[in-house]
Amino acid sequence: MKPSCLEALRDALINTADKSVKLASLGDSVQSQDISNDILLDGYCRIHTFSEEKKEDWIADPLPTIPAAKALGCRPDQVRNARVLQLSGCNIRCWYCFVDDSNLSPKSPKSRFFAISEIIDTLMLQSQNPFVLDLSGGNSALLPEWTLWTVQYVKDKNYKNIYIWTDDNLDSVYTRY
Ligand code: SF4
Repeated sequence: MKPSCLEALRDALINTADKSVKLASLGDSVQSQDISNDILLDGYCRIHTFSEEKKEDWIADPLPTIPAAKALGCRPDQVRNARVLQLSGCNIRCWYCFVDDSNLSPKSPKSRFFAISEIIDTLMLQSQNPFVLDLSGGNSALLPEWTLWTVQYVKDKNYKNIYIWTDDNLDSVYTRY
């Protein structure tokens, strides 16, 4: 049976044999013009500062900082700088999306596969402090395995300094549970 468009998109983003996923390159993207923090993992992981503090013109947003700080036993200000990975594929096109259109496709020339172990081990080497690892997109809900493999790897390696966060847009069944 011919795979559906969604299955084909998934297949282009994941390699189950070596547990790897295709990430978008951020270094030379248009999006990078709005990124003021360092870009890690050779250009494939951006740092985003989440602030849980109430702004004058915006609601207070405790996520993911407050639950992460609680779980990791540290102060909120120590985990505000989350490491954000962007899956190079999305089946949706929100009008407000800030990701380069090319980075919403696995065909983006700079996108590349990373093994889960490579991602985690490299980021661990680059940080002595606790951090939030944000699995984002693209549409990270296309690959439920990504979250599962990441949690399994962190658990197997007994890494205590990482809090795993997955972004989703509530369009998938698995994120309802
Ligand atoms: S789901 Fe996310 S990545 Fe996809 S188009 Fe919407 S905002 Fe962009």
